[in-house]
Amino acid sequence: MKSQDIRAKYLEFFKSKGHTIVPSAPMVLKNDPTLMFVNSGMAPFKEYFLGQAKPPNTRLTDSQKCLRVSGKHNDLEEVGYDTYHHTLFEMLGNWSFGDYFKKEAIAWCWELLTEVYGIDKDILYVTVFEGDEADGTPMDQEAYDFWKEIVAEDRILMGNKKDNFWEMGDQGPCGPCSEIHVDIRSAEEKAKVDGKSLVNEDHPQVVEIWNLVFMQYNRKANGSLEMLPNKHIDTGMGFERLCMVMQGVQSNYDTDVFTPIIREIETISKTEYGKDEKVDIAIRVISDHVRAVAFSIADGQLPSNTGAGYVIRRILRRAVRYSFTFLDQKEPFIYRLVNILSTKMGEAFPELKAQKQLIQNVIKEEEMSFLRTLDQGLVLLNGVIDHASTSVISGEKAFELYDTYGFPIDLTSLILREKGLELDEAGFHAAMEKQKLRSRSASEMSTGDWTILIEDAIQEFVGYDTLEAPVKITRYRKV
Ligand code: ATP
Ligand code: MG
Ligand code: MG
Ligand code: MG
Repeated sequence: MKSQDIRAKYLEFFKSKGHTIVPSAPMVLKNDPTLMFVNSGMAPFKEYFLGQAKPPNTRLTDSQKCLRVSGKHNDLEEVGYDTYHHTLFEMLGNWSFGDYFKKEAIAWCWELLTEVYGIDKDILYVTVFEGDEADGTPMDQEAYDFWKEIVAEDRILMGNKKDNFWEMGDQGPCGPCSEIHVDIRSAEEKAKVDGKSLVNEDHPQVVEIWNLVFMQYNRKANGSLEMLPNKHIDTGMGFERLCMVMQGVQSNYDTDVFTPIIREIETISKTEYGKDEKVDIAIRVISDHVRAVAFSIADGQLPSNTGAGYVIRRILRRAVRYSFTFLDQKEPFIYRLVNILSTKMGEAFPELKAQKQLIQNVIKEEEMSFLRTLDQGLVLLNGVIDHASTSVISGEKAFELYDTYGFPIDLTSLILREKGLELDEAGFHAAMEKQKLRSRSASEMSTGDWTILIEDAIQEFVGYDTLEAPVKITRYRKV
């Protein structure tokens, strides 16, 4: 089944169960101070769950564009290295706002997977919240009993609070969840671990596909739980992972969501996917990141030097670094992938088609400017190397390259390593700390009537791989 049909089937199925199909909300949030990007299907519906707004129907269904590159969900480092975490992905969802609850959510989930999609029951596992003694939350017996009616008991596994209990924050709506996992290992692979399920163990062929959240409690300020008067259903299924299962392949990148982009990368860069692990990682990174960047621009978030724009700029630069280093691309080329992306996804997401020209121009411009930076940086770095009197290059010098010229530190390390030299990392980090202190006091002086809102969340993002962060990024709100 083609990915387009897989998406359509999901929406039609829930439409047939009384749901209204709604379009994806934009991925970039302008008015939510707690979140930079939509990172799950529920984010745009927060107000409905909190009772602050009324949904157009008590049953909705959609495919929401999500981006997991900052804050609580940051999968960026996984992307390219594994085969099932993306920066941008689609989350298929069905929603009940005080309408149906566990019984229907469970029965429809199973009906859709096994009857409509025809997925073999023997590759599916279901998890149920086991309860938490320390915090007094009971096991989800109700869900267990509903599952037991339709799923063999040896396929139902107990899960802990981390995987099987969802909370919006320290306070507010929360509840247990049931997840569906697929096991697409071969019989020989399974035999190797003697029947062990490997669910939630980061195995590339034993993957979570769907999460059904049963919002039944409200967590009060003192930490205790009370039953919500209106119970809600919030489900999220990873579309690309579902396509992997439905198309009988072992990686999201082997589905028709990604193969057209990958073929285009192969053609342009004269490489072949599947021959060399380093090249493969680069190809996966680029095919993933072009989607994230293109969709963000289509949603109005252009790359820039602050806030959400800076996150997007970093994602694009990450893609350029991989193409520069591992695919030997010294000219802009990521923008050339936008055409195929918009052809393939433009029907489901018309904003891509409508903004195609802008997306291409912006990406090309960004690529050119970053490639210039890389060129200049290389000349400067070679100068440093030529004048080096020891095999350890000073952290101060590397920081100058990074801070003044935007030359990524990991590229510096890589080049030094290739030449048998070393980077003084401690010196680099010390210089970075000094610079942070300087810019902090500068910004405090100039922002009198602005309050810092979510500095921590963004700084967490900056910290994952000390690559390029010459800019202090802090979001401000006028008070
Ligand atoms: P995982 O444990 O695999 O990281 P998760 O538990 O963080 O997934 P949820 O927050 O439960 O994911 O989101 C619902 C669904 O969205 C998941 O079951 C999965 O299919 C999909 N999903 C989550 N993160 C990603 C990602 N980075 N890329 C693609 N799909 C994802
Ligand atoms: Mg996760
Ligand atoms: Mg999980
Ligand atoms: Mg989950």
